Amino acid sequence: MKRFLPLFLLLSLCVALCGCAEPAPEAASDKVQIVATVFPAYDFARQIAGERAEVMLLIPPGTEVHSFEPTARDVTRIANADLLVCNGGESEAWLEELLEGQDGARSVFYMLDCVDALEEELKEGMQASEEEEDGEEGPEYDEHVWTSPVNAQRICRALTDRLCEADSDGEESYRTACDEYCAQLAQLDEAFREVTDGAARRTVIFADRFPVRYFVEEYGLDYYAAFPGCAEDTEPAAGTVAFLIDKVREEQIPAVFYIEFSNEKMADIIAEDTGCEKLLFHSCHNVSADALREGVGYLELMRGNVISLKEALG
Ligand SMILES: [Zn+2]
Repeated sequence: MKRFLPLFLLLSLCVALCGCAEPAPEAASDKVQIVATVFPAYDFARQIAGERAEVMLLIPPGTEVHSFEPTARDVTRIANADLLVCNGGESEAWLEELLEGQDGARSVFYMLDCVDALEEELKEGMQASEEEEDGEEGPEYDEHVWTSPVNAQRICRALTDRLCEADSDGEESYRTACDEYCAQLAQLDEAFREVTDGAARRTVIFADRFPVRYFVEEYGLDYYAAFPGCAEDTEPAAGTVAFLIDKVREEQIPAVFYIEFSNEKMADIIAEDTGCEKLLFHSCHNVSADALREGVGYLELMRGNVISLKEALG
C-alpha cells in the first residue's frame, strides 16, 4: 500500500499543475459575459457590472460607427454573450439580421427603448443627401439617445434591472454601483444646467454632423448644424458654409463645434472666415484606442463638453 502513495501524490500534483497551467474555459466564464455594440453601452455596462462581468466593446475604438460590419469573430462573441447591450435603430440593422439567424437564448437590451425617442430632424441650412431629404422609409428616430445625461440615467437604471434579472446574486452590487454612477450623472446634468441657465445666448452651431439632438432638447438650446447626425457625406458645400457663416455673424457666436473623428473641414472654413473659435463637442459615439485603454468614460468626455459649451454660449 505504502509504495502506491507517492504515485498517488504525483498524480494529484500533476492534476493540480495542469489545472493551473491551463484554466478550463468554464473558469473564465464565471463572470457574466456582456457584449456592447457602441461605446456608451459599453461604458454604462462596465460602470454598473464592475467586477462581476466581462464587458466587451464590439465596434472597434477609433472607427466610424455607421459603417460597421461584424466579423466572423464578432458573430461568435454575440452568440456566446449572456447579455447584449446595444443601441437599437437604423445603424444597427446588421445586428437585427444577425440575431434573426441565431437562437435567442441571450438577453438583448436596447438603449433606444429606455427613452422617449425623438425623430430625426432636418434643420434649416442642413446639408443632407437625397435619401435623408425624402425620408421615404417613414420617420426615422434619432439614435444618439445617450447624449442627454438625463437619458443616460434612465438607461443605467433600466440596464441595472436587466442585469439583476440575468444575475440575481449580483443584485446588491449592481444597485449600489448604479446609484453611485447615477449620482455622478446627476451632477453632470446639474453642471450643464448651470452653464445653460446663466448663458448669454441659447444657440449652438455644429459645423459638423449633429448627433446631439437629445442633448440640446434637454437643455432648451437652439441649434444649426452642417449635416444630420449619421450623415455619410461631410464634404462642405458652398451653400451650407455660407448659411452657417451668416448665422455665426448674425448671432455673434464665439465658437462653433466639431465632433470626434471629424475631418474638421467645415469648422476650419467657418473659423477662418469669421474669426470664431472651433471647439470639440464629444458625442461619446466612439473613442480612440488610446482613450479606451486609459479607461476614459462617458463622464470624463461629457465634463469636457461642459467646458466647451460654456465658451460657446459665452
Ligand atoms: Zn450615429
